[in-house]
Formats: sequence, structure tokens, C-alpha cells
Amino acid sequence: MVNYFRYLQLKNPLQAALEAFYPPLCRLCGDSGDSGIDLCLGCQESLPWNSPACPRCAMPAQGQDLPCRCINEPWPFTSATVPLLYEGAVATLVGGFKYHGNLAQGQLLGKILSKALEASEKSLPRHLIPLPLHYRRLRQRGFEQTNELARAISKDNPSIIPTPILNRRRATSQQSLLAASQRHANVYQAFEVNARTLLPKHVALLDDVVTTGATAISAAKALISAGAERVDLWAVARASINS
Ligand SMILES: [Zn+2]
Ligand SMILES: [Zn+2]
Repeated sequence: MVNYFRYLQLKNPLQAALEAFYPPLCRLCGDSGDSGIDLCLGCQESLPWNSPACPRCAMPAQGQDLPCRCINEPWPFTSATVPLLYEGAVATLVGGFKYHGNLAQGQLLGKILSKALEASEKSLPRHLIPLPLHYRRLRQRGFEQTNELARAISKDNPSIIPTPILNRRRATSQQSLLAASQRHANVYQAFEVNARTLLPKHVALLDDVVTTGATAISAAKALISAGAERVDLWAVARASINS
């Protein structure tokens, strides 16, 4: 099972040299950052890591056989990489990023996800498809959070190309305000693929926080009906269903 925290500690020579000139600072406590990440060692260690987790649906796993019970349920993703749990300091970082426009916190979260992908040893697609906001919400927020995360991942791993080809067909209610049972209906057929795009066979869908997975599932179905043969799910954090 991948230990994401240990993986953050690995440094390459360029990273070590950069750190000597531009030492990173911890975005949670203000101490010196570590391993090229804007988090000190203590804060990295105390993050709520989602490990061990099911490699197919990223639900936290506690000693059961893997893949977990998702193997018997409709789940369009071949694999899922979601390194953190949405609680404590992670909820603070995600909230600062999404609702207060702290883009540096978004870059940090993107970098953590990127390191987790490297650690996962899964076969990674070249095309990363950010899950889009509806244009009205985008206008309110002023930035697309999944594009920001995609930028951080691609900066860390230039062979991964952000490919923003999904559109929201209609505005949907905010999923976090709905009961779990209402979430699938809210996002049913909410997405479409830009018709002029030739879709690669293997793609990753990028979201920030996954709860029931209803939004991501709806987006994955749009990608599969447009010709994708394998869709992986990448997200920063897994929230419990009651979040
Ligand atoms: Zn710290
Ligand atoms: Zn599972």
C-alpha cells in the first residue's frame, strides 16, 4: 500500500538546490517547508492521509479485500487516486482555496496530488480533464479551481496535459447542500464533451473533493459516451458522505 507521506520526502537534486535558494514556508504554521512543499515536516505528517484506500474508488480501506464493495456497484472509473481525507487542515486548505481565492493553497494541494500520482505506480494518462464549474458559478468565483489544480500537476509532471473539453450543460444545485440520495438526480446528464474534440482513449478526470462521487460519475459517463475507453479519477480529498 502506498505511503503518500513517505513519498513526499523524496527529493531530486534540482529540488534540493532550489530549496537552498528559495526555502518553502509551511502554509499551515509558518515554519520552514520541507521536500519542496509549502508544508513543514510536522504538518505533512499530521495531515489526514487517505491511506490505505481502495485503488478503484479511493474509499478508505480498513483491512478488507481490495477493490472494496465498489466492485459490485456501478462505478465508471478504472482507478482512483485521492490522497487526502477532507477534514481538519485539509478542509482549511481546500476552503481557503475555493472560497477565499487563495491560489497558493490550490497549488500546494495540486502538488500533493501530483506526488501521490507519482507514488501510485499506476499507468497515468497524458490527458487530464478538469471537471468544470457552470459559467455562472465561475463568474461568481472568478477562477476555475480544477484548472488551477491541473496547472499545478502539469507543472510538476509536464507529460500530463490539462485538456479542458468538458462543459456543464446546465447549472446544478450545490451538491454539498443536498442529501446523498438527491445528488445523482441533480447532476444527471449535466455534462457534455466539446463536440469538436477527438477524445483520447485513456483520460483522467480531475475534481477537488469527492463525496458520493455523483458529479464525477456523471462527468465520466459523458466522457465514455464520447469515446473514452478508460477514465481514471483524480481528486485532492475524499469527504465522508455526510459532509
Ligand atoms: Zn507546519
Ligand atoms: Zn472500492
